[in-house]
Amino acid sequence: MKNKSSISIVGIGPGREEFMTLEAVRALEEADVIVGYTVYIDLLSRRFAGKEMISTAMRREMQRCRICFEEAAKGKRIALVCSGDAGIYGLASLMYEMGKEYPETELRVIAGVTAASSGAAVLGAPLNHDFCAVSLSDHLTPWEKIEKRLTAAAEGDFVIALYNPASRKRQDSLMRACDILLAHMEEERPCGYVENIGRESTKAVVCTLKELREAGGNMFTTVFIGNSESEIINGRLITKRGYRIERDTDLCGDN
Ligand code: SAH
Repeated sequence: MKNKSSISIVGIGPGREEFMTLEAVRALEEADVIVGYTVYIDLLSRRFAGKEMISTAMRREMQRCRICFEEAAKGKRIALVCSGDAGIYGLASLMYEMGKEYPETELRVIAGVTAASSGAAVLGAPLNHDFCAVSLSDHLTPWEKIEKRLTAAAEGDFVIALYNPASRKRQDSLMRACDILLAHMEEERPCGYVENIGRESTKAVVCTLKELREAGGNMFTTVFIGNSESEIINGRLITKRGYRIERDTDLCGDN
């Protein structure tokens, strides 16, 4: 019986190898071909030198997925790489959708460290209570829906992680998003953003919502909006969980 061909859809984390899970490293080591967006293929090319690598440009997601199925049909083990987690604004769902045409190909998703998680660690602990992620990209989602989700997130007092705050064509998305949030939150709301997580030029900024409005951001920025319990402690963005910190005086018996 012919073996089923298989494709691993691998989240490689935000950048350097130490941010990858061992499972992801193993999947890439086992693969015959690594397929991905040019920037990520460049990041991996030294570590996985000698492997066949296929890179495609940014907006060529469908082409990238199609290549995976076609290469898998030749009997090769394929790893499709995505930054962060492949199932968070990544290609995992598109692969399953296109996979309907290729029932003989088995797909598996390998979790990665998403930018919300790796960026939160750089800033402190901003996601330490209920949070949601909203992408500001209106490439595949109408802006009206993005606005609705931002309003709902603010009304629900969620901490918000914003992905895709800007691109070359969208320079004012973060400002527009902040204007929507400012209708529900105070100007001094603690916020932060991190650029180039996991790369050499990581930049982390803690600021207020009013200041965030002017921050701009780029396509490698992840933004964090605190909830009503968030606080800046020693320059770090923290969302409290509600613990009441007690002194140990009772235990000492002197109270
Ligand atoms: N699948 C990815 C997200 C892809 S959407 C993940 O799980 O992280 C692309 C957006 O992710 C970027 O616009 C940015 O908001 C965020 N992002 C991805 N890599 C990043 C990095 N190295 N530093 C900061 N933000 C990053």
